[in-house]
Amino acid sequence: MFRRLRWRIALPYVALVLVATLGLTVYVSDQVRQVRLADLEAQLLADARLLANSVAPLLQSGTDSETLDELARSWAAPLEARVTIIGADGVVLGESHEDRAQMDNHLSRPEIQRALIAGQGSSTRYSATLGYEMMYAAVPIQPATTQDSEGQLLGVMRVALPLGEIEANVGRLRQNILLAGAGVALAAALLAVVIAGHTTRPVRELTAAAERMAAGDLDARLLPSSRDEVGQLTRSFSHMADQIRTQMMSLAEERGRLAAVLDHMADGVLITDESGQVRLINAAATRLLDTSEERALGRSFTQVAPHHPLIELWKACRELGQEQVEMVEVSRHGLFLQAIITPFEVASAEGYLVILQDLTRVRRLETVRRDFISNISHELRTPLAGLKALVDTLRGGAIKDRSAAKRFLKRMDIEVDTLTQMVEELLELSRIESGQAPLRLAPTSVAELVIPPVDRLRPQAERAGLEITVLLPPELPPVVADPDRARLVLTNLVHNAVKFTPPGGLITVAAEPAGDEVILSVQDTGVGIPVDDLSRIFERFYKADRARSGGGTGLGLAIAKHIVQGHGGRIWAESVEGQGSTFHFTLPMAVER
Ligand code: ADP
Repeated sequence: MFRRLRWRIALPYVALVLVATLGLTVYVSDQVRQVRLADLEAQLLADARLLANSVAPLLQSGTDSETLDELARSWAAPLEARVTIIGADGVVLGESHEDRAQMDNHLSRPEIQRALIAGQGSSTRYSATLGYEMMYAAVPIQPATTQDSEGQLLGVMRVALPLGEIEANVGRLRQNILLAGAGVALAAALLAVVIAGHTTRPVRELTAAAERMAAGDLDARLLPSSRDEVGQLTRSFSHMADQIRTQMMSLAEERGRLAAVLDHMADGVLITDESGQVRLINAAATRLLDTSEERALGRSFTQVAPHHPLIELWKACRELGQEQVEMVEVSRHGLFLQAIITPFEVASAEGYLVILQDLTRVRRLETVRRDFISNISHELRTPLAGLKALVDTLRGGAIKDRSAAKRFLKRMDIEVDTLTQMVEELLELSRIESGQAPLRLAPTSVAELVIPPVDRLRPQAERAGLEITVLLPPELPPVVADPDRARLVLTNLVHNAVKFTPPGGLITVAAEPAGDEVILSVQDTGVGIPVDDLSRIFERFYKADRARSGGGTGLGLAIAKHIVQGHGGRIWAESVEGQGSTFHFTLPMAVER
């Protein structure tokens, strides 16, 4: 309690008032005592002088001691003092209070000595006879002034008074001063406490406001109530609070912006501290590392990214203190990442910034492109090599053999046709891909799309010993399609079914409505497609089984996919190797208005 500011201010004042009161009490009472003693001394001397004058003639006349005793007693009563008449030789001649016979010679008493030498004397001392302090005043007794008695000494008159009264007076005075002093000290203490409380109130209010601010209430403010230092402090405090609030707001804003950027970034971002504890992780990084923010934060990098190459890279970055970049394959998820780990320092704390770029798609596209180029060269090389061989043979003399020359020319014609078809298909594909050949969409009945290709391919299927059935529900709604292109999709699918189904097989072309689209399917009982190839057969030039695909270009399904997607539909395949495949694709239903 006494550590409070108000007490620290008030206590010294209280102490000062108490010390001052005490000092004053001692000083004043001492002064009063001195004055009273001096008064008393003067009065006693005056009394003694009066009595000395009265007793002088009696001594001259040789009055006996009993009478003198009587006289001393009669004077002592009204004066309330002790009266002693002493002879010039120091023998007590008359005494008011004591037994004169018991008293010793008084010549050596200091007041007597001084009275004899200086004409008057006084002394204050403890009276062994009476048992308390007394003031004694003595004057010489001389005969009434006559010519002949000048300088003659008859004795000494002594008057004494106990000091008890004066001491009691001074004691009472001391008590009163002390009481008054205590009252003043109390009032001063109260006043000091009140003033100190009043002075420190703004400080207490400021403290409360600061505490509210510390607890998070940034709106805690105080109005300056005075123009003094405290008012100035209040104004400074408010200014500081404003600054903090503005800074906090801009910090929060910055944080929000940063969080938004991090969350919408395609790259994974992760920050670890010096020891490798994850301090920040964005959504992309949680996706790439197959974790969640709650699971990752506060954990070690090794736990969050349990991939050996990544951990090694992080360690290398820490040891070398330099940025490290490496391609990392996260085999478990089939991901291919470029990891960049950079050391950085923020607010004197070291940390590591880990950026993970998902290059899986880029790498896949690269593979597709590489395959495409190798495929196209391969596809072109076969017919070109055939042509070259035929030309060489003809030049080598076969041209002279008419029937052989005709046969060779026919084979050359076939090779040229294959090349032409391939080029045309590639052209068609690039036209569809680049949108140069817009679809001519119109409501079309599904039968119009299915029947013509099936009819065209039926002779070929029959030659291969296959049966084709078409299953179309009677109430099938029309679809929105470019008829020529949609028929091309069906032609490609049925043609594949014919090519990849051994004799005796069955090909079923069917359609059924599903939601706002129609699903068309071509099912065969053929060789099927290996699972690994299933996802890639729609790529250009991709052939699952090169030996069996015969004269195929590997473009048929790629074209089909682009046409279907151009219609806003989807195409997919299901297959069991050795049992057959089913290709599905959807076309949007025509809405009748
Ligand atoms: P191709 O001209 O070689 O038929 P496609 O693009 O039409 O080219 O087909 C790509 C590959 O998909 C084929 O080489 C084949 O391996 C596989 N494929 C397509 N349809 C079937 C099917 N019905 N049965 C088995 N394999 C198929």
